[in-house]
Amino acid sequence: MITFTDALVIPVTADDPRWFHGWVHVDEGGVIAALGPGDPPPGLPGTVHDLGGSILAPGFVSAHSHLFTAGMRGIAPDDTLYGWVSRMGEMMVGAESEDLYWFTLAGCLDFLRNGVTSAYNFTQSRVVAVFDHATSTLVAERVHDVDFLTRQIDAQADSGLRCVTSTRLDDEQLPEAECFEAFAHVTEHRLRTVPRDLDLGGSVFGSVQWSSSPVTADRERETMSRHGVGNQAHFVETAEHLQVQRAKFDWYDRAGVLGPDFAFGHFVHPTEDMVRRVAETDSAVIWQATSNGRLGSGIADVTGYREAGIRVGMGLDDQSCTDVSDPFQNMRIGLYTQRAVHSDASILAAHEVLRMHTLGGAQALGLSDRIGSIEVGKHADLLVVDPTAPATGPIWDPVATYVLACSLRNLTHVYVGGRLVAEGARSLHPLADEADAQLTERMVRSARARGFIPAFTRPAPVGTRP
Ligand SMILES: [Zn+2]
Repeated sequence: MITFTDALVIPVTADDPRWFHGWVHVDEGGVIAALGPGDPPPGLPGTVHDLGGSILAPGFVSAHSHLFTAGMRGIAPDDTLYGWVSRMGEMMVGAESEDLYWFTLAGCLDFLRNGVTSAYNFTQSRVVAVFDHATSTLVAERVHDVDFLTRQIDAQADSGLRCVTSTRLDDEQLPEAECFEAFAHVTEHRLRTVPRDLDLGGSVFGSVQWSSSPVTADRERETMSRHGVGNQAHFVETAEHLQVQRAKFDWYDRAGVLGPDFAFGHFVHPTEDMVRRVAETDSAVIWQATSNGRLGSGIADVTGYREAGIRVGMGLDDQSCTDVSDPFQNMRIGLYTQRAVHSDASILAAHEVLRMHTLGGAQALGLSDRIGSIEVGKHADLLVVDPTAPATGPIWDPVATYVLACSLRNLTHVYVGGRLVAEGARSLHPLADEADAQLTERMVRSARARGFIPAFTRPAPVGTRP
């Protein structure tokens, strides 16, 4: 139990006010139990964290992430999507299930210390594939056992990050029965092992975009209904092979999967008809502003989607193409690219982009009853951001100061379910240092299988050298 006092609260709720100066009380279950302006009523149980006027905001939601990728930052630095994704596939060929555990743990802890408290995680498929430019499909290089997937789930759970676990069927590379069986196994493992409050559910890793047959969409629909899960599919992300990509939209539409449980990731280059169908079916769109810029993918017409009534959430994507998992940077790149492309600064407001990276992401994933805002009954996933260290000057508009002027350097505390998980840039997880070391060592080993060697390796600190 903890009570935050003297807080500049930015609740990101559906209603006004956009901010208030007051307090927030968290109960023993890690849930927000009460809040209000001014001072709290006397006699609230538990400890007090006096924020001295710092901002208290909801933890960020990354509605589209690949948490095993933190060891591949800076790769293919000047490539578009397919060149970059091919490089990533090659570097993963040498990875084993234990490597995936450490890659994922390091990725999750990186999110947490950067203020991201919930993530939709596309697990690395057990079929490690390399993109084939000639056919625009994925070609299998290695096929692993299901523990390749379940160890990633173990890492998510051990990290303390709330996750949606997304799993690809790999139906083009594996016999049909085996795909369904593996998905069921992963689902059973998740339900049995992940603490209930951390488990945000399962999802299909939609992969029709790289499939060669419409039957993949039917199999995804079958999996969604069998397990009662949603689906997020990367779609029309890049300007490469655009006709091939667009042609597959009808495979999804005809399979009948579009709807409130379905989201398109990226959706940078849709046709007008595709946007209309997404709006009509109440499907969602997940926007990766930093990744789309890094890979030269394009600028999604996010303001147009919102005008069409489409739910839009934001994601930090892969830690290899959003090389810094910085939600503040992601909000601003998104905001500035939208404003620049329309030559109109009023096209997207600061409070709207903040909402897309918190409550809007939760709504797009169907999780807004639990996460995304500071409201009674929701998980107490909270960020303390101090706009005086470093100083950002007078606060003329708290939301504008938070979105436009604050950065990771101002983030002082990250709470998940009322429990402190990071302080400053430091993770408080007992395995944090080991996870970073294991990530580097294991990623170098995995990449070496295909001949990739780091350009520079830091010498061991004095005193640890043999
Ligand atoms: Zn992605």
